[in-house]
Amino acid sequence: MSKLAFHQYPCLSDNYGVLVHDVAAGETFAVDVPDADATLAALAATGWKLTHILVTHHHDDHIQGIPAVKAATACVVIGPAGIAAVDRAVAGGDVVDLAGEGIRVIATPGHTLDMLNYFLPGARVLFAGDTLFAMGCGRVFEGTPAQMWASLEKLMALPADTMIYCGHEYTLANGRFALTVDGGNAALVARMKEVEALRGQGRPTLPTVLDLELATNPFLRAADPAIRAGLGMDRASDAEVFAELRERKNRG
Ligand SMILES: [Zn+2]
Repeated sequence: MSKLAFHQYPCLSDNYGVLVHDVAAGETFAVDVPDADATLAALAATGWKLTHILVTHHHDDHIQGIPAVKAATACVVIGPAGIAAVDRAVAGGDVVDLAGEGIRVIATPGHTLDMLNYFLPGARVLFAGDTLFAMGCGRVFEGTPAQMWASLEKLMALPADTMIYCGHEYTLANGRFALTVDGGNAALVARMKEVEALRGQGRPTLPTVLDLELATNPFLRAADPAIRAGLGMDRASDAEVFAELRERKNRG
């Protein structure tokens, strides 16, 4: 298994970009480019030479920096079909051989219909784009809640120790909502104390880990009896409970 180095950097108001570097393969890829200057600065700081970009979805705050970075580095852009800057279109079920990994492409429609997540099985790392956040999930803009739930179920089936990089630092607001529907969850209460301390110091709360999300993220806990009881939805399907949670978060 290759040894990979990861570099996460904040950009725009609350986005994160990530660089992944593999010495053995001589490759470096970026996941999304919210801001070209921030990505080029991160490359300069690490000394890594960009060879590829993996794109999660078509929203401007994930792709607007790609043309300038592509012009500066001549990298190859891999991502959903329909995005002008993409050189090689991929779809759910594809495997991308990159950085010594057979990177699994996972389609997670809901936030957008073109959303792709990328799972590195060797390193056990997931790039979740705007599908999954720490204690939260993306707003369902283009798909249906049922579709988004099915997408989250795919991520929930990954190894529990999977490290998860997300597109945004939304953790504090997500956690405050989580407490309104799952306030009896001791793991959630404890996590919020840590998150408040980190954010108070201006430090990132990401990446996260899947088992922590399974324990504290209400959007992955639609089957939880206490959450269901609080919503008065004991007999509903998991997808219906998820839809109600998402609706409440939208209103909050
Ligand atoms: Zn988005």
